[in-house]
Order: sequence, then structure tokens, then C-alpha cells
Amino acid sequence: MLVVSATALLVFWPLAAVVLFRGNALGFAIALFVSGLSQGLFLAGYAFARADRKQWWRWLILATGGLGILMFSLVDAVNLDLDGFFELLILGTLGPAIGHTMVTTVVGPLIFGRILCGWGCWRAMVLERLPVGKGSGRRKGVWVWTPLVGVAVSFAAAVLFALVLDFQPGGTPGYMRGNSIWPVAAGVAVYYAAAIALALALHDQRAFCKYLCPTGFILRWTSRPALLHVSFQADACTGCEACTKVCPMNIPVAARVRMGIRIGKGDCILCQRCVVSCPTGALKTSLRKQLSANGERAKAGGLLDKQVIR
Ligand code: SF4
Ligand code: SF4
Repeated sequence: MLVVSATALLVFWPLAAVVLFRGNALGFAIALFVSGLSQGLFLAGYAFARADRKQWWRWLILATGGLGILMFSLVDAVNLDLDGFFELLILGTLGPAIGHTMVTTVVGPLIFGRILCGWGCWRAMVLERLPVGKGSGRRKGVWVWTPLVGVAVSFAAAVLFALVLDFQPGGTPGYMRGNSIWPVAAGVAVYYAAAIALALALHDQRAFCKYLCPTGFILRWTSRPALLHVSFQADACTGCEACTKVCPMNIPVAARVRMGIRIGKGDCILCQRCVVSCPTGALKTSLRKQLSANGERAKAGGLLDKQVIR
């Protein structure tokens, strides 16, 4: 973590200066500067923080990272969301579409999972401060399909941006840029209104992430085989369920450890709450698959009844 932190400082701040003075892109320069702050200084703070302070530091990283992305969008009038990707496709500019969205929603998640959701989303930075708890459990039935509504609305917004409001690919390569910040600001306002209303209605900070976010819907599939994930040592698990109780995405962490199957399956945002709360250190975030002897035995014994634990 400290290596990432030092590298971020060495890369982001000099890059921010170059973009500001040579590229003349103020919003992008702010985003890079704030990323240095977030993934440089504050990540180091997280690494050294006491266990009971780590979530506070993670939120600081989430908030500064999210703020950087938001400033990039608003200052440079750039659409960074899934709507921006659809706009590029509608305008037939496949190259720029691959530039940003493929990296943040496909290639990046294949390696780092949903780390952006847990550590850098501008919607989540506000949602995580709402005093509404984490919901009583994962909703099923129609709620499984509501993210498709988010994707459909995102596509409709893309048609509006591209064909009516005259957004064009350009500026920073791979992004959609508009003539004015107002369409982008209106999009941000709609996202916030929907996310906050859903959180309040369902008493669940991450309700939007689970049931409506169009980006989250894509990430749910692309992050499933992610290299970076929460792994476990099943024979160190006492079954206390501390991990399951703190998970904001309502993942049955302890049950999955008992069954010896992958914890995330597209829902994990790598927030580390379960890892920090585990009293025996049975959970760890790692790039490697790590199944203990018990986990392997559970698999071999055919104990994997996914219906029971999903
Ligand atoms: S699911 Fe959507 S709103 Fe939630 S953290 Fe991920 S990108 Fe942000
Ligand atoms: S499984 Fe752990 S790291 Fe993943 S979302 Fe739940 S608490 Fe966070």
C-alpha cells in the first residue's frame, strides 16, 4: 500500500502540473492533483491507521477521489459516466469510447474489481454519509432487474446529449465534452437525487449501487473474475459472522467462507470492512486465490449449494 501511495505522489502531482501548464485542461489537472492527495497522502494514512479508524480514512480517500472526478466533469464539461460511453457509440467514435469507459468498466475491473465503487465514486462519497444504515438484506424479485432501468435511462440520456445537446468526442482523448457545463451538472443532479432518494426510501446507503446504478450493473459482471479480491483462510474462521454483519453490499461473507467459494462474485466493493472486522484474521485482500484445506474440502465434498447462500 505504501508503494502505491509513493508512486501516486510521484506520478499524479507532476502530471497535474504538465496537464495544467501544457494541456490547458484545468478540470483534468485538478482531478490528477486530488488523486495524488487521495491515493498518495491519504492512502498512507489508511495504511498506518488503527483498525477502528481505517474506515474513516477510506472515506477520506473515497471523498477526495470522488471529488476529483466530479471536478473533472464539471470544470471541463466532460461526461465520464456510462451515458458518455453510449454517446460515443451513438456518434460512431469507437476509439474514444475504448479510451475511458473500457478502462474503467471492463479492463480495470478485471484486475482490480470494483475498487472505484469502494474508494473513488462521487456518488458513494455522499451516500456513505447518509444516516440510514446498510439495509436489512439483499432484495430479490423485481429488484434484481431494476439496474436495467438505470441502463435504459442512461442510454436515453446519451441520445439527448449526443443528438440534441451536441456533445462531441474530444478534449481529453476518450471523453465526451459539451459546450456548457449545464447538461453535465443536470446529469450529476439527477444521479444524486435518484441515489439519495433510494437510500432514504430503502434505509440503505448503497441501495443505488445495488439496485439502480448503470455503471454498477456492468461492473457486477466484469469484476466477477477480478484478480484483486477478498480471499480467506477457512480453517481460521470461527463462524462469528462479524464480517457478514458489516458488509454494506449484504454479501453473506461468513457463509461463503464456510462453503469455500469466492466471496465477491461481482458485488464486493473492496471496502475492507469485513477484513478489518474479522477477529481471527481469516480474511485478506489479495491478488491470489487462497483456499485453505477446509475450503478445498468443502468444494470437493459438494457443499456448494449456491441457492442456500445467494
Ligand atoms: S455502483 Fe455506481 S454509484 Fe455505487 S459506487 Fe459503483 S459506480 Fe458509484
Ligand atoms: S465482502 Fe468485505 S470488502 Fe467486499 S463489500 Fe463486503 S465488507 Fe466490503
